Amino acid sequence: MKIVDLRATPVTVPLHAPLRHANGCHWGRFVRTIVELETDDGLIGLGEMGGGGESSEAAFSALKPYVVGLDPARLEELRFRIANPTAALYGNRTQLLAALEFACLDILGQAWGVPVSEILGGRVRERVPFASYCFFRYPDPSSGNGEVRTAEQMVAYVRQLKESCGFTTHKLKGGVFPPRYELAVYRALAEAFPGDRFRMDPNSVWPLEDALEFARAIEDLPNDYLEDPVFGLDGFRRLRARTRLLLATNTVVVNFEQLAANVRDPAVDVILLDTTLWGGIRGCLKAAAVCETFQLGVSVHSSGELGIQLATILHLGAVLPNLTFAADAHYHHLRDDIIVGGPFRYEDGAIAVPAGPGLGVRLDREKLGLYHELYRKLGPYPYDQDPLRPGWVPLIPNRRWADPQDDRAPAGPRFDFSLESRKA
Ligand SMILES: [Mg+2]
Repeated sequence: MKIVDLRATPVTVPLHAPLRHANGCHWGRFVRTIVELETDDGLIGLGEMGGGGESSEAAFSALKPYVVGLDPARLEELRFRIANPTAALYGNRTQLLAALEFACLDILGQAWGVPVSEILGGRVRERVPFASYCFFRYPDPSSGNGEVRTAEQMVAYVRQLKESCGFTTHKLKGGVFPPRYELAVYRALAEAFPGDRFRMDPNSVWPLEDALEFARAIEDLPNDYLEDPVFGLDGFRRLRARTRLLLATNTVVVNFEQLAANVRDPAVDVILLDTTLWGGIRGCLKAAAVCETFQLGVSVHSSGELGIQLATILHLGAVLPNLTFAADAHYHHLRDDIIVGGPFRYEDGAIAVPAGPGLGVRLDREKLGLYHELYRKLGPYPYDQDPLRPGWVPLIPNRRWADPQDDRAPAGPRFDFSLESRKA
């Protein structure tokens, strides 16, 4: 079996409301690039990649000569063709490799008549539990609804998510407002939902002193972990020496060199695996095996996903023996998906692992066309900018917080982010 074609299609799928984070905002939509690999016997494997609000179509097109003619079962060969660790210094292709790996695994599963999870060691669970992944939000520009800025709004929002999806683990995405303000929101959640578990993620922007104050102020709560409170392995080490909380990361341990450094001189307790950032599902499994050996915790990171990437998270979650924490997904923030049968459904905070061959998801061509058109209409968005704070960027460590009293709403789905405003 040989790969004969590679197609990449950027799509934009709307969110319920713009999601605010420490480095900017998801402007009411996700931009994802859908990858299709076709084989000489007519099978089509699916992959998916983000790109900080931008299309990755051109990057995939450039890789077509690397994959045409390759047997999709030669996954290690693919790794060295796309992301040879020294050649790749001149163009980080790890995320591109991941999308191609998903598509190859999808082809193999279809060819062999088994789900991807059965190729990767076999399932140890049939359903993968997820955390609620709550963001501060701007109101949806079209309806004016959905703002989440105050503690009351956050509690109401989480109550709604618990009712619709059944989450019992809640992750607060912070680093937007002053740490003490976010501390009050976090404690309000813990008070409102006794018996549930909590985790906090300010995306590494806190000064160490603020992180330490926050950590000490939540030690009495049922925390899973504090995720990326500060930046750098040594930032983590300094904090870890002073708090009883477990520390987690999807920022400072995202490759095998950093994982080795963390084993030799521990800084992080829980490694958040990401099927994109680690170069594929198999990269995550290799990292998870190292974590199992050295008894590091493992959880799953989400970089924003449609159904294809969610399927990779589900197959990964199905086969990881040492997955003791609920996974993260942005998935419930989406209004729709591009897969046949519509979006995956949550039940009791978990999603069932697809049972069909390969990744177990197929493209809804009509939806793909619809959301490709939407991408063409709206274009990319700057993930690392805030529509209401043009030119703003956080420092790391940061003090340039958003104002919790500022209740303005972005005007529309498209913000004119000119070079002029970047300088402001
Ligand atoms: Mg994170």
